[in-house]
Amino acid sequence: MNPEALLAQPLAPYAAHSGLSRGRLFEETPPSARSEFQRDRDRIIHCTAFRRLEYKTQVFVNHEGDLFRTRLTHSIEVAQIARSIARNLQLNEDLVEAISLAHDLGHTPFGHAGQDALNDCMEAHGGFEHNLQSLRVVDKLEQRYGAFDGLNLMFETREGILKHCSLANARKLGDIGERFIQRKQPSLEAQVANLADEIAYNNHDVDDGLRSGLLTLEQMNQIDFYATHSREVERLYPGLGGRRAINETVRRMINALITDLIQTSQQRILDARLQSVDEVRNAPPLIAFSDGMAQQAALLKRFLRENLYRHYLVNRMTAKARRIVAELYACFSAEPTLLPPDYQLGQPGTAGASPQARAIADYIAGMTDRYAIREHRRLFLVDEGHL
Ligand code: MG
Repeated sequence: MNPEALLAQPLAPYAAHSGLSRGRLFEETPPSARSEFQRDRDRIIHCTAFRRLEYKTQVFVNHEGDLFRTRLTHSIEVAQIARSIARNLQLNEDLVEAISLAHDLGHTPFGHAGQDALNDCMEAHGGFEHNLQSLRVVDKLEQRYGAFDGLNLMFETREGILKHCSLANARKLGDIGERFIQRKQPSLEAQVANLADEIAYNNHDVDDGLRSGLLTLEQMNQIDFYATHSREVERLYPGLGGRRAINETVRRMINALITDLIQTSQQRILDARLQSVDEVRNAPPLIAFSDGMAQQAALLKRFLRENLYRHYLVNRMTAKARRIVAELYACFSAEPTLLPPDYQLGQPGTAGASPQARAIADYIAGMTDRYAIREHRRLFLVDEGHL
């Protein structure tokens, strides 16, 4: 189909239609000049947690280099990939965009290292999980509106943000947790955003890994998926080399993944003879790569885990990050009076209680990398400059 014609396509019957939505927790007047999901997207872009993404680690800590991905640029890349897929499948682009932009709002500073450390600290108080925290940010922590806490987003946006959830947590969440208990699927838009996330980070981590020098081209060429596209680039542009050859290779990898995902998912949707979102929820996951492509993607993921995420220089930053988060938590939990007033729940003697622990986790999770580093310095360094 002519790509321009895609713009004029109506939503498929199995797409999320805002008119058939389960709506918002607090009823509001419908927006006059945009769709309900556009309104969600706009609220997300304007919220504080979204701006903080600029200074939160994806793999490399923000100050390690100006050209690496941050959680903000990652989220924008996810939204771009997800929208392309959604348009081709006649799904709701506004919804996939909203989910994609919000999916990482609950991340701690220092990426997964920060989350693991905070989860350990919170063991006696229900743990810490970034997906659940993203939902908590949009449901409770953002304070911008007169009538409600949070952003009061549509059910389908919140459902897409909560990608994973333990059964114990699901039971506490009411309708948004139901699907984990009943083993149902979320909307196709949520499924698209989930896989767009994977496409984005696998490829930009290759790009950032090579840029940083932690990965080499010799290593990358041992991965079939990379080598195939790299050979194609060499055939088209003999001797190109350098950043351009890397970019030409990575863009082909992204394109191959997106194209495969669209074709495979389209076929699965056709085979399932879907007529509505309800049928989507009861069907098996329908947004998927072909078996061959899923295998390639898994190999790439494993390669990145072994060679980039566990590179000794990354490990050094990870170890520091865990220490900073654990020490901040221990310090606030022993002396909640050191917290900013908004996070102090109360009377002497509440130290160690779960609500106070959760408020400490909220405070730490909201920090950017550099804020956490500075806060750690302010609390632990004793010299004239840091009192
Ligand atoms: Mg992500």
